[in-house]
Amino acid sequence: MNKTDLIIIGAGPGGYRAAEYAAKKGLKVVIFEGSEVGGTCLNVGCIPTKTYVHSSTFDEARERMAAVVAQLRQGVEGILSHPNITLVREKGVFADAHTVGDYTADNIIIATGSETKWLPIKGCDDPRVVDSTGLLQLETLPKRLTIIGAGVIGMEFASVFNRFGSEVTVIEYLKECLPALDSDIAKRLRKYLEKQGITFKMKTAVENIADIDADVILMATGRKSRVQADFANAGIEYDERKGVTVDENFKTTVNGIYAIGDVNGRQMLAHAAEMQAIRAVNHIIGKKDAIDFSIMPAAIFTQPEAACVGPTENQLKEQGLAYECKKSFWRANGKAMAMNETEGMLKLFVSPDGLILGCHAYGAHSADIVQEVSVLMCKHTTIAELADMVHIHPTLSEILKSAVD
Ligand SMILES: Cc1cc2nc3c(=O)[nH]c(=O)nc-3n(C[C@H](O)[C@H](O)[C@H](O)COP(=O)(O)OP(=O)(O)OC[C@H]3O[C@@H](n4cnc5c(N)ncnc54)[C@H](O)[C@@H]3O)c2cc1C
Repeated sequence: MNKTDLIIIGAGPGGYRAAEYAAKKGLKVVIFEGSEVGGTCLNVGCIPTKTYVHSSTFDEARERMAAVVAQLRQGVEGILSHPNITLVREKGVFADAHTVGDYTADNIIIATGSETKWLPIKGCDDPRVVDSTGLLQLETLPKRLTIIGAGVIGMEFASVFNRFGSEVTVIEYLKECLPALDSDIAKRLRKYLEKQGITFKMKTAVENIADIDADVILMATGRKSRVQADFANAGIEYDERKGVTVDENFKTTVNGIYAIGDVNGRQMLAHAAEMQAIRAVNHIIGKKDAIDFSIMPAAIFTQPEAACVGPTENQLKEQGLAYECKKSFWRANGKAMAMNETEGMLKLFVSPDGLILGCHAYGAHSADIVQEVSVLMCKHTTIAELADMVHIHPTLSEILKSAVD
């Protein structure tokens, strides 16, 4: 048995970032990866989908996706070639709480990610049904694409395939799309995408796949944590549906074992996985940090994109919090007009003492604007202080400034 300082299972954004950071801090790291390095995010998630968003035709998207993924994968291979890191290209399986494969360590980080959650709809073994990975593997553009689920993955693919020329229908059980987004913003975005040609069937449950008249059907009904039966060998508590139980340092119920990223089901985002990696390694080396996991910005890369940080207006109401909502619009911004991107609205929620509680927006580059809001929130900036900050003219960032001026 080979002894090391830290074993990591999975080389997605959580795993490889943990390996890189721990190695820089002087730990000897062994990282197991059962597939390609880079995980869901790089190989079949964030990067391929964003390459599609930024390509004008389906054929161009396919060609660019392969090149971009290959280049970024090389970058991750580079990170993992650090002298303190050993990459083991096989599935990591727990023998006991300190042993994975041929290695033992006092500390182990599980970063096995997530997988598609398939709803048990009648007929879902129909060959027309694919998940997001299957959709990215299509070699020809489907004439008619039906998407089950109007969450982030469903909406991003709806937007991009509609633009490529497919006839897109989205079927959603709930009243509104994108439940994490303020419902006002979500509705405006959906209405705009409807005008672009996407058909939405809201408040509709799919009973039988055979009833769907489409060439390809995307199952976009969510993701579930990738837990393994051998986690039980280490005595870790986990739930098949919710993932591995962790505390604020991402430590599992077993001392020395951590679970970061999608596998703990907390915030299924690549940047969340990376920051959780830093927190877990910091806990292992006894370093305090100031990462605030309650401020977790997120974006939806439809066209135009949408983004949010903090609670929705409905959540603020449910929590009985006093707030004021400040709005501003892309159509009133000089840069947006010059870019011919005038669709969009921003809502900024502010407490009675002027602190920013959250921001939800849709419109060109709204993710960058919400990122600025996240920074201000991390620094507990008031809107009076924001009003005193100079913003370059003409930029879309003035949309935020004009909400508080
Ligand atoms: C279509 C799609 C689009 C997305 N777009 C975005 C986006 O724009 N922005 C964003 O923030 N997030 C996005 N996400 C989510 C993002 O991909 C995940 O949140 C992120 O990849 C989670 O990182 P992770 O390290 O936890 O897991 P993963 O990236 O899933 O990596 C886990 C790795 O562990 C490996 N593994 C699993 N079990 C074992 C084992 N036993 N031994 C060895 N290796 C193992 C897997 O092969 C995989 O490489 C998207 C997801 C999808 C599906």
